[in-house]
Amino acid sequence: MKIGLVTYTPEKVEGFDMHVYYSKWADGSIFPAAKEMQNDVTCFCDAKAIRENPSLVAVSKNGLALRKNRKLNIPFDFVCPTNPAYQKRVLDYIETLSKEEIEGVTLNLYHFPEEEFCVCPRCVELWRLSGLNWTEWRAQAITSFLKKAKSLSKGTFAVEMYPDPVLAKERFGIDFESIAELVDYFHVPLSARDYTTMYWVDLLARDFTKILKKPVVLELSAEMPTDDKLDALLKTVAYVSRHNLKGVLFLVHDSENARQICRFAVRNVKFQEWLKKYEFTEMSQIVDDWAKVY
Ligand SMILES: [Zn+2]
Repeated sequence: MKIGLVTYTPEKVEGFDMHVYYSKWADGSIFPAAKEMQNDVTCFCDAKAIRENPSLVAVSKNGLALRKNRKLNIPFDFVCPTNPAYQKRVLDYIETLSKEEIEGVTLNLYHFPEEEFCVCPRCVELWRLSGLNWTEWRAQAITSFLKKAKSLSKGTFAVEMYPDPVLAKERFGIDFESIAELVDYFHVPLSARDYTTMYWVDLLARDFTKILKKPVVLELSAEMPTDDKLDALLKTVAYVSRHNLKGVLFLVHDSENARQICRFAVRNVKFQEWLKKYEFTEMSQIVDDWAKVY
């Protein structure tokens, strides 16, 4: 099992063998490519673009896909995924990234905000012309965008997802079966303030490794760690390492945050004994490797 980072800093950190850099954010910020890293692109969540042009936003009978719309539980402001001009902006950016010496491209938030989206006049017309049912049309709209994005991408191609193993197609248009044919791996973010309660992480790791027909990488939050939170996080990584994962990624603020995790594990003899006692050999190996550096 590999160990890696998801980071807002365009630099690699010693002790980690996968590096994902957020190069385009949900607030609309856009950054130059991070070389030799996996560049992670937020596709259809763009608060800035929607502020500048409110007609971009996705529409439902319960209103617009905006965080301030309290009729809905939506974590970001969503652009309608079938808007051709906005799609082109994202695809042009992916093409620009891919001219640099990057490791590859990961896409996130490339889907519909929820099941009832989008009913803007363009989407309703495209759906009607397709002759497909609502679920199939939405899934095909998303998969066809991913195909275009992949054709412009260099290197390893991966997608994140909203981590719903059962209803992703109905809710978001995320069709795991057809997307598996496009990607090198799936990146499953399981964000939390801490992992002191972790059965759900184990459950979702189990479900996703079973149903996805490509390798799975899990992302866990590691920002603002305290000793208690770090201990729970590292034990959670140990438990999920029993599943058939390609890797685990830590979401960190910056490189120092990442090194702090390594130092905590290296100086924590009790944790290392716990790993040995219960035969978490993969995690033990990771900590042994960190001890050579930190
Ligand atoms: Zn629409």
